[in-house]
Amino acid sequence: MTVYLSETAFLSIVLSSIEAYKKECYGLILGYRTDKLWRIEYAIPYQTADRGHKTVTPHGLRDRRVRACLAQLSCFEQLGTFHSHPAWGSLRAVAKPSTEDIQSLMPGDLDLIVAVNDARHPRRFRHAENGRTLTGNVSDFALTMATFYKPPMGDEQVRRTLIRCPYAVGFEPDVMLK
Ligand SMILES: [Zn+2]
Repeated sequence: MTVYLSETAFLSIVLSSIEAYKKECYGLILGYRTDKLWRIEYAIPYQTADRGHKTVTPHGLRDRRVRACLAQLSCFEQLGTFHSHPAWGSLRAVAKPSTEDIQSLMPGDLDLIVAVNDARHPRRFRHAENGRTLTGNVSDFALTMATFYKPPMGDEQVRRTLIRCPYAVGFEPDVMLK
């Protein structure tokens, strides 16, 4: 299974994770899917999620409100959620789901995790780990994204997918820093 990220979704996820750093950000991802391909068109960051350094929790009532309104406003499917894993203290952030992430992910949903660490040098975005991560640096921030899918029935484990973002791998961070 391959997850494609649009330019719009990539920008929303990158900027909301950098804005909230060193706390976590959280939001919904919208798009469409077939058996083999999921395309994330939009990422909607939650402004009222309860942000911590190691956790982030959406407000239940507000989450239901946004989901209900989105269903009326957009014909894109609600594919799942995204959140960030920021570096904290001496702990380097990794784009892997915690036990809590796996438990809270709804069956049939996709979870995009973006790990944010400090960076010293610009680095182009590229597809790494045999296509299972999208990684690169923006300004002082090193970002790594990965996506995880929980099957709809009978399986409490999550499966890692491939991730592709043609927009991200096509630009030069050097140019952005000038
Ligand atoms: Zn997490």
